[in-house]
Parts: sequence; structure tokens; C-alpha cells
Amino acid sequence: MITVDKVSKNFGELTVLQDVSFVVEKNCIVGIAGASGGGKSTLLRCIQQELEKPDTGTIKYHGHAGFMFQDFQLFPHMTILQNLTYAPSLHDKKTKHEEYAKTLLTKLGIWDKADVYPYQLSGGQKQRVALARSLMTKPELLLCDEPTSGLDVTTISDVIALLKLVLDMGITIIIASHDLGFLTRIADRVLILKGSKISADITDLQKLENPVKHITQLLAEA
Ligand code: ADP
Ligand code: MG
Repeated sequence: MITVDKVSKNFGELTVLQDVSFVVEKNCIVGIAGASGGGKSTLLRCIQQELEKPDTGTIKYHGHAGFMFQDFQLFPHMTILQNLTYAPSLHDKKTKHEEYAKTLLTKLGIWDKADVYPYQLSGGQKQRVALARSLMTKPELLLCDEPTSGLDVTTISDVIALLKLVLDMGITIIIASHDLGFLTRIADRVLILKGSKISADITDLQKLENPVKHITQLLAEA
């Protein structure tokens, strides 16, 4: 369970999050929708706890979170395998991380890319690598920032399949996305971030006739 309690975050004069509270149950997929500049990334970064710290409020969960960055942030001068093993090796020099890295690459369908460099991969393949890398530390929680940005429609279906695979590994997933078509296909629940607050919490997504239209209207309301 992840508990976000009365979290506020300002950048100078700019209030990005104000009194944001919600609870996420284990092993589900929660979407965060909102306008560009609305604070979705900031909220995810606060939940990760190292990338950003809230000014006030608390965020609690067991274990730690993996973060999948919008622009993948792979190291260009390292092979795919090295990209995966680099950070875990800094924390724990004794363990052989290659084996788990290869297991993840196999699970995500890119085992044959272990020894190539990021520039040799397609966007969809880079994303699989980014996902594998965020899973290397065996997180309880996976935070995905705009996972479909820059991907074509066929690859978006792949992302949905991939994230379901992650869910099957027992990992809770929180996804920030402006792509409502994608978000409503994958999430069990969508939180609307608007005016620095959670303005709506949609838990009955499956029951809605047109969830995209519903959320679009909620976002447009004053
Ligand atoms: P979203 O992901 O919903 O597009 P962000 O969380 O990236 O929104 O940004 C929310 C607001 O906070 C924006 O106005 C952005 O410019 C500002 N912002 C984000 N990070 C910083 C930062 N490190 N310093 C100053 N302003 C920031
Ligand atoms: Mg963002």
C-alpha cells in the first residue's frame, strides 16, 4: 500500500502540488491524468523520494520505487547489459547482476540485445531496456512518466502488454500520462491532477461508457 498524505510542493512562487492525498492498494495500476505542466511528473518524482522532496506532507510505502523516465535516459556509451548492471553494481559489488539482467531482458523479449548499444535500438526496444533497468533493483512500486510519448500506436499496445507483465510480477504501477486513450486502457483507476489538487478519483473506470470523454470533460471543467 502506498500512502500519500497532504503533500505540497512549490517551486519558488509556483504551487505545483497542494494538499495531495490518496492511497494506492498493492498490485494495481493507477493512472495520473492532467494537463501539461499540471504537476504529474513532480508528483511521481516526489513518490520516488530521491528525485524530489515534498515541502510538506508524507509519502509512505514498503520497499522502494523504480522510475521509468520519459526519455529513457540510457547511457549511450554502455551496452544494454551494462546499462542494466551499472547502478546495482555501485550499491552491491559482490552480487553478479548479469544473470538477473539477462532474465529480465528475456522476460521483456530483448535478450538478443544484451551486447548492443542504445543507438542500435528502436524507440520501443529502448523503452523495454528502460523498463528492465528500472526493475533491476526489484522495486515494490514502478513509477512510469509518460511511457507512450514518442512511441507509435503499435508500440503503445506493446507497452500495455509489458506493464501487465510487470503487474504479474507483483509490482504496483503508477503511470503519469497525458495520453487518455492509453491511460484508460491500462489503468484500474485514474486520479485527475488539476489546479495542484486531486480533483477527481475515478475507480469505476470499467463501468464508464466513454472514459476518455469523461476524463476530458473533467479536465475541461473550471
Ligand atoms: P507535468 O508532468 O504534469 O507536465 P511537471 O510536474 O513537469 O508537470 O511540472 C509542473 C510545473 O512545475 C511546471 O510549471 C514546471 O515548469 C514546474 N517545474 C517542474 N520541475 C521544476 C523545477 N525543478 N524547478 C522549477 N520549476 C519546476
Ligand atoms: Mg510530465
